[in-house]
Amino acid sequence: MKKNLFTLLSFTMLGFSAMAQNGLKLHPCATYEAMEEGFKADPSLKARYEASQAQFELDYAAEINRVNTAAKVAVPVYTIPVVFHVMGNLNVTDQAFTTLMTYVNNDYAKTGSDVGTINSSFASLYVDSEIRFALAQKDPNGNCTNGIIRHDNDNPTWSQSSPAYLYSGTGTNRWPTNKYLNIYIVECISSATMPCPPTGAYIGGYTYLPGGTPYTTNGNMGDAIVMLRNQVNVSGPSDARTISHEIGHWLNLAHTFGSSNNPKFDPSNMPTTTFACSTDNVADTPPTGGYFSFCTPSALDCSIPNIENIMDYASCPKMFTQGQVTRMRTALTSTTGGRNNLWSATNLLATGITPGYTCAPVANFEANKRAVCAGNSFTYTSLSQVGASGGVSWTFQGGTPATSTSTSQVVTYATPGTYSVAITASNTSGTNTKTVTSFVTVVNPVGGVLVPDANSFEAATLPSSITVTNLNASSPTWIQNTAVGANSTAKSIYINNASSTSTPGHVDIFETPVYDFSTTSNITLSYYYAYAKRLATQADTFKVQYSIDCGGTWTNIIGVPTTAAMATASGSVTTTAFVPTAAKWILKTHAAALLAVLNNKPSVKLRFVFTSDKVVGRSNNIYIDQINLTGTILTTGISEIEKSMELVIYPNPTASTANVDFNLEPNKSVKINLVDIMGRILEETTKTANNDGRISHTINQGGNLASGIYFVNIDINNQRISKKVIIE
Ligand SMILES: [Zn+2]
Repeated sequence: MKKNLFTLLSFTMLGFSAMAQNGLKLHPCATYEAMEEGFKADPSLKARYEASQAQFELDYAAEINRVNTAAKVAVPVYTIPVVFHVMGNLNVTDQAFTTLMTYVNNDYAKTGSDVGTINSSFASLYVDSEIRFALAQKDPNGNCTNGIIRHDNDNPTWSQSSPAYLYSGTGTNRWPTNKYLNIYIVECISSATMPCPPTGAYIGGYTYLPGGTPYTTNGNMGDAIVMLRNQVNVSGPSDARTISHEIGHWLNLAHTFGSSNNPKFDPSNMPTTTFACSTDNVADTPPTGGYFSFCTPSALDCSIPNIENIMDYASCPKMFTQGQVTRMRTALTSTTGGRNNLWSATNLLATGITPGYTCAPVANFEANKRAVCAGNSFTYTSLSQVGASGGVSWTFQGGTPATSTSTSQVVTYATPGTYSVAITASNTSGTNTKTVTSFVTVVNPVGGVLVPDANSFEAATLPSSITVTNLNASSPTWIQNTAVGANSTAKSIYINNASSTSTPGHVDIFETPVYDFSTTSNITLSYYYAYAKRLATQADTFKVQYSIDCGGTWTNIIGVPTTAAMATASGSVTTTAFVPTAAKWILKTHAAALLAVLNNKPSVKLRFVFTSDKVVGRSNNIYIDQINLTGTILTTGISEIEKSMELVIYPNPTASTANVDFNLEPNKSVKINLVDIMGRILEETTKTANNDGRISHTINQGGNLASGIYFVNIDINNQRISKKVIIE
């Protein structure tokens, strides 16, 4: 029913139109559409809303009268505690929220950088609202917080028609709406008329006006603002005005063009005659048809518009008027909307906004990786919350250092194994400890498996050398299938996705053991797959990746088929559980030319990664079998060459330099490399033998190499001789 035909013109403009992306439309605000959907679902809500608004208008008239007649005394500042709920594992930093809050407070304080550019006819109407917003520092359970709560396992796709206000309202582990302004951050908002991309439009955000909140038995759970992630990662104050705009609605402001989501002046459909304007119940905002995505007043408008008002959709939002400020302050003092406790001194102490509160510490941390080669390091970062004062202490099993009190710490692991990490957060209220066993995997980078190698999954159980990781505990993961295999074999490895009805975005991985390709080139990889989509629009992903640092970092192997190609070649689309027949097993071979990056790498792991569709939330089965690696090992003649070379490296291990001495034909040149465990060249030289045919070279002359395992490579007669050196 609503128009959603916004134009490409918007993409280069500021304000509400700046966030459009991927060539898709941006619908800046769907507040009235959301409210209509709420009224449709609960007809009694509309009557309650209208009664509440009628009372509000009386309160508003009284407040206008008070403002106009009261002695000019300073009004109290109303500070609102805010909590952001980040739904799903979205890429938005804590700093982005802090920056966003600064911009919003500037809008409400009239301290934005563009105040001086406001049209002179309206500039004097803009006043400091004396309303401020602050990130909550204490949660409803008394724990310390930074007001940014990451609900990593939630679906980041939001339905405006059946919204999931899981964390606000009343009840256990919910943030009460009379104590916090709850703001949900999502990847996409869909409505009845606008599905999520790729087919729909972006809805920038929405909320409900006071009294218009859908009610449930658990309380006012819909009393929240829902915002797109892209409206948080803002590049400047103008971009941040989508949230200032939604807060305006939350404080009972209508659009300057009235209570709809459809401004008249839209470049894709401009009016050609005059028309009647709706009111926004604010006396000092001129009647207007409203503007979308541009900033030039039209002669056909009902009056000269305050086009720079934050409650329009024009591309130049900059200000609120005195009348709007009075209306918003009324929303915070009126009993009609449940907003009048938020700024009370008691609540500001309870939510940690004002000094004097105490909160219980919460321990948490993250690391930049989960696996390293022996001799290498992790970087740990505390995510603990300790309130105004407090600290953390770490214990790193198997690591150096073994303990730390820094919020960020680099830790080195010398010995292969799996180790735990613990962090304790403490303040005057007490302590809290988080321990994760087997957090760290330290891998022996030498002595890996040589080619050829085959994984056929035909044994009684999965091979112990295969490591399965299930990143979403309640979802299905890679397991052995003992009923079907490729090439007429009996078994394979698979994910029984069809057994689960809703697992949006679940990630499942299995890793191979370490391969030793230090003397291997011409490497090929092949495997069989069988896969079907459950729905044609299913956007699962499948990757095969390699690591040359023992699993610390991973890179995609080129040429892995997309799930679309896999479904086409194999099981197509079916809503029944997919079980492959012989013909549905597809052999994929990665040619040596595309795997040349792995040649001569001493420590290589491979892994297979499946991620289910984030939106559809339910996939069909994927199977893998007969993973084969081949290559050419350069062994023939090497020992003879080495013998005749009389190659010696000494001292080895060494604490500083080491000498590399060997024989060569007189005056012949040779290239000598020193590489680390990841194959990175650290030293490189070309040496020429003397008249006696002897070469003598010193490595680590600067003494700069960290403790660890290195390899000296000597390229001779088109062959590579590789020798391990240990720096202590
Ligand atoms: Zn709006």
